[in-house]
Formats: sequence, structure tokens, C-alpha cells
Amino acid sequence: MTQPVLLAVDENAADLALIERELEDRYGRHYKVVCAGSPDDARTHLEHFAASAVEVALVLTGQWRAGEPNCRLLASVHDLHPYAKRAVLIAWTDWGDQSTGRAIFDGISDGRFDHYVIQPSRSPDEQFHQTISMVLLEWAEANRAAPYTVHIVGESWTGRAYELREALQQCAMSHHFCLADSPEGRELVAAARAGAVLPIVVFPDGRVLENPTNLEISQSTGGPIDPGQADFDVCIVGAGPAGLSAAVYGTSEGLSTIVVDKGGIGGQATSSSLIRNYLGFPRGVSGRHLAQNAYSQAWVFGAKFAFMQTVTGIAREDERLVVTLSADRRLTASAVLLAMGVSYRRLGVPSLEALVGAGVYYGGSTSEAPALVDRDVFVLGGANSAGQSALHLAQYARSVTLVVRAPSLRDGMSDYLVRQVEATANIRTRLGCQVVGGGGDGRLDHLVLRDIASKTESAVDARALFILIGAEPHTGWLPAEIEQDERGFILTGADISQRSAPRFNRSPFLLETSMPGVFAAGDVRHGSVKRVASAVGEGSIAIQLLHQYYAVEQLSLRGSID
Ligand SMILES: Cc1cc2nc3c(=O)[nH]c(=O)nc-3n(C[C@H](O)[C@H](O)[C@H](O)COP(=O)(O)OP(=O)(O)OC[C@H]3O[C@@H](n4cnc5c(N)ncnc54)[C@H](O)[C@@H]3O)c2cc1C
Repeated sequence: MTQPVLLAVDENAADLALIERELEDRYGRHYKVVCAGSPDDARTHLEHFAASAVEVALVLTGQWRAGEPNCRLLASVHDLHPYAKRAVLIAWTDWGDQSTGRAIFDGISDGRFDHYVIQPSRSPDEQFHQTISMVLLEWAEANRAAPYTVHIVGESWTGRAYELREALQQCAMSHHFCLADSPEGRELVAAARAGAVLPIVVFPDGRVLENPTNLEISQSTGGPIDPGQADFDVCIVGAGPAGLSAAVYGTSEGLSTIVVDKGGIGGQATSSSLIRNYLGFPRGVSGRHLAQNAYSQAWVFGAKFAFMQTVTGIAREDERLVVTLSADRRLTASAVLLAMGVSYRRLGVPSLEALVGAGVYYGGSTSEAPALVDRDVFVLGGANSAGQSALHLAQYARSVTLVVRAPSLRDGMSDYLVRQVEATANIRTRLGCQVVGGGGDGRLDHLVLRDIASKTESAVDARALFILIGAEPHTGWLPAEIEQDERGFILTGADISQRSAPRFNRSPFLLETSMPGVFAAGDVRHGSVKRVASAVGEGSIAIQLLHQYYAVEQLSLRGSID
């Protein structure tokens, strides 16, 4: 296979020579480094690569601001190489300069390029290579099968095969689905036990699980422990950003901590392809990366994890809180942190609900997007998550239609996202519109859209529909003792009603619920901000409050439990 190309474009010959040497020295074995001294030259190279089916991984340019020679080139790279990453070079002296910062922000928001890189100034320039490697990692993750891919083979896209894909996605396990009657599927089934029950899950080390439960999946991925009868200082319910943050702070401050999640790590954040507003990541960070890093951090500090186990009850027995898990397991803890987050509202169109997993998806598009190259896809919703999903899909799909009930995108979406959506050529918006029907033979092939004002309906071809229409908190299982607002979000601190006062011999702490010793953080909490940073912040605050709670209640800590 021909090596993918790294194309550098700069009219300054000395700068270009330094870039070429850096790229060649570090990446020359696995990539073909090509340099162009002008945008016309670069365009000729790009056309030639497209005509001869050579992949372009990265286009790196100097002179990129509006009116400068490479600006138009950058904007057109994706016409020929839709998956190429585009980065602009800036000089050290420009770093921190306000107008450069603004131009970078505008360029990324308008979809002209993806990243900025500070020009190499010596050889080797490790800072330059750190950024280039990060960009290439992003490119490779989107365009190359992961080295340790778990294969799922099923008879159809729906049902248990879809649930298994979801389970692996939640465990942040790279996976690939194929139908049993495809050539690849036949090969994998043949390597399993004769008569194996589908769907099967084939791990990179050759192990095969036949129609496994989610718990078996999580046990096979090696992460969780069986909590059994264990006792902890704190039990955290939910491994989203709030729960992971609490796990990091809790364990690093000496609390024996267990995190239980009905899925795996990351919560909603794993469905966000690029979080751009999280502190410390000027180039953005994928939700999956953030969650994986947080998980590793908590794990190294000593947090225990129990994945694919749903918490179904919580009750006080003397000094301990008893947490009941699915499959009749239970554990005890001095305190509990509820960080169960939210999930998306259902659309409620039966013909589309029947196709969930087969072209109809709730939430973001991270894992399904690469399979939608050259397809027409739809995103339903008008908030930031819908905008992000549309932008992510637009890198793969032929067209993305954003269907929004409101008359304006600005009603529910941040300005920077609206600008990116509007600047992306293959995203269309249908404002004042609803999805009222649709279907397909085993897989979505069409949708029925209704214009709200005129009440007219039209059928459109559609390969996929991503539904992001609002969230409901995961609080249905909580005892009545834990007060919730009218939408089911948990009340904490000063929001708790007087009715619960007799349970306390003090004022409840800021994030404490109406059940003493049970705290709540993140999206599940009434009044929460619904952002990764806020969830992470609340997770850390909750741990501080737990210390105060232990002190006030004179609870002795258990320390680490093996
Ligand atoms: C597509 C998308 C894009 C987004 N983009 C951004 C962005 O760019 N910037 C930003 O700041 N925010 C973004 N958000 C919002 C952000 O992801 C959330 O605010 C954040 O994840 C909330 O964290 P959390 O820990 O409170 O809850 P969640 O992330 O919802 O995690 C809750 C966890 O609890 C588990 N759980 C629920 N019930 C139980 C139970 N009974 N037992 C055990 N476990 C349970 C769930 O499985 C889940 O893993 C986005 C969200 C989505 C969906």
C-alpha cells in the first residue's frame, strides 16, 4: 500500500526546508513527505494524489490568513481529500498575539482548518513533533482500524448486536461489526465453535463469546472487579466526567473508592467527538480520550471500577449506606455520590424506534460516522450536541441535514457552532421542521419530515438519523427520600425542602441530597450546567464536602481495600 502523504506548503524556502527536514527525519519511514513552494504547486500535488488514490494525512501550511496565498488552498483541501487533517503554521513570535489567536479561532470555527502548529525552530523540535503526532493520531483513529479491534458478528444490525456495540463503545473498546453472511463475517464465524450462537464477540487474543451478557463483556475487557460484599469510604454511581473526577480526587486524597456504572467509562462525554471548551485543550479533545485518561488516572490512584452493573437501590442501615446493584450484588459505603447524568429523550415514532442501531441512533455519531461515507444523513436537534454531531458527520457523509424545530439555529446553539455549521458546505439546515416517520427494510432508508408552519410532509432518502433532542435524568430508581424536581433532577443543598429537615441534625452540605451522606454531582443535579467542566468541578467539590461530612459525623475512614 502507498504511504499516506504529509504535504507541507510554504513560500519561504528556508522555513520550508526546516519543516521538510523535521518531517522527513521523524516520519519518513511511514509517510511520504512532500513539500510545495506555492499553493499552485500544492494543488497540483493534491490533484495528482486524488487521481492516483494516494491518501493525504496532513496538509501543513504557512501564509494562511485571509488574503494570503494558502488560505484558499486550505479551504479546498477537503474537496479532494475529505479526511486529510489541515494545520496552519504559526511563528513563536505570533503565539499569544491576540489577532493571531482570533484568526485561528475563526479559521477553525469556519471549518477552513483543524489545528495550528508552532513552526519548528531547531532540530529536533519536540514541541513541534508533539503536535504533529497528536494530529496524526487523530487522523489514524478516524482512518485506520485500531490494532486491537474487537469483532462483533451478528445476523442483523439491530437487537442484541446493536446492544453489544453500545456496550463496547461504553467500555471505550474499539470494535467493528460485520454481518454473519458477509465474507468477513463468514470467516470469523468459521473460526469460532461450530454452531456458535450469534451474535459472537471475537477478542484480539482469539477468545470468542457467544451472545454474551454486558457483564461478561465488561469482565472480558479486564477493567472491573466484582464488588461482592465490599465496604468503601465512598461509592460513586456513574463513571461520566463527574464520577471520574470524584474518583480521581477521592482516591488521591486517601478515600477507598468504588465507581459503579451500568455501562463503562465516560458517560455522555464519550459521544462527543471534539470538546473544544474544556480548559487546557486549546486544540480540543475527544470525549473518549478525556474519559480514558481520567479512567487511567483514577485507576493508578487506586479506584475500583464495576462496569455493566446498574445501581438499583440505596438505603441506610445504621452507619452504613447500602447500595444494591443489578444481579443481587450489594456493597456498603460511608457516603454515596450520585453522578448518573442524563440520557436523551426518545423520539417516539414506532417505525424509527424499531430501527435503533440500524440507521437510527440516539446521541452522538462517533462510532458510526466512518461507515457513512458518501451517504445522506440527518441529525435531529437544535442544541450544541446536535451541531457538533453534524460537524463530525460532515467529514464523512455526502450530506448532513440538521432538522431543528426552532425557527433559528441560534435559539439553542452556541454562536461558534452556528458559524461552523453555516460554513460547512455539505450541512443543510431544515428549520421549523420535525421528523414524523420513516422506515426501511431492516435498515433505515427514508424519513418523513413535516414542516411545522405549513403542515406539509415529505419523504426523503436517509441512511442514518442521529437523535439529540433533550435529556432525562437517570433517577427513576431513587428512593422517595431523595428529593427531585418536577423533571426528575436531584435537589441538593439549599434546594432541599423543609420536609427533609428532620433527617438532618445540621444544614445539608452544598451538594448533599435530602438523604444524609448521599451527594449528587454533574448533569443529574437540579440546576447543573450540563458541561464537562462543570461536571468535573462538581465531582471534585463533592469530595471536599465528603471530608467535611466524615468529620461532622465522626466517621472513621476505611482506607484502601484490595
Ligand atoms: C454528543 C454530546 C456532545 C457534548 N459536547 C460537549 C462539549 O463540547 N462541551 C461540554 O462541556 N459538554 C458537552 N456535552 C455535555 C457533557 O458530556 C455532559 O455535561 C457531561 O458528560 C455530564 O457528565 P456527568 O458525569 O454528570 O454525566 P454523564 O456523562 O451522563 O455520565 C453518567 C454516567 O452514569 C451512568 N449511570 C446512569 N445511571 C446509572 C445507574 N443506575 N447505575 C450505574 N450507572 C449509572 C451512565 O451509564 C453514565 O456513564 C456533550 C454531550 C453530548 C451527548
